[in-house]
Amino acid sequence: MFRTSGALLEGHFRLTSGLHSGQYFQCAKVLQFPAYCEALCGDLASSFRGTPIDAVIAPALGGIVVGQEVGRQLSVRTMFTERSEGRMQLRRGFEIRPGERVLVCEDVVTTGGSVNEVIEIVTAAGGTVVGVAYIVDRSGGQVRFPVGDGGLQHAVMTLTVVAHRPEECPLCKQGLPVVKPGSRGNA
Ligand SMILES: [Zn+2]
Repeated sequence: MFRTSGALLEGHFRLTSGLHSGQYFQCAKVLQFPAYCEALCGDLASSFRGTPIDAVIAPALGGIVVGQEVGRQLSVRTMFTERSEGRMQLRRGFEIRPGERVLVCEDVVTTGGSVNEVIEIVTAAGGTVVGVAYIVDRSGGQVRFPVGDGGLQHAVMTLTVVAHRPEECPLCKQGLPVVKPGSRGNA
């Protein structure tokens, strides 16, 4: 699905971390197709079908599509957090009530920073994070979230991204121009 939709890009990329890589995943490109979105998010939803869940929450921007589709399939209300003045916040009148059981969704997890910020928001409101669901784990299975007793974290796909420091990058040594993904219309 990622290859068919052009979401798996091959080339020479400068990642957000500053490292260079020969591969890049643009999750939004696969999720733009309803059948792919339904199937990938369906894999996540099915992992939590036996778990009582009151609400789904996802960090803007990439997580919103995943949260909305997982929430639709589980028939629970779905919210999102967004970064404002550098801080992740629950805005727009969204509320988590004490005792609510909440599933956190995301598209791509690398270090898990955004997901951990969402977990803090849920916990601070008195909610319980019952799980974390995401399409792509780019940490090679290394990332671990504090999901508590019986909590579950689930990725559709786990990858180990090979990345190099610019001064050691074999693609730079070949003289290939480096591209920042997302900086052009089709990437
Ligand atoms: Zn390079």
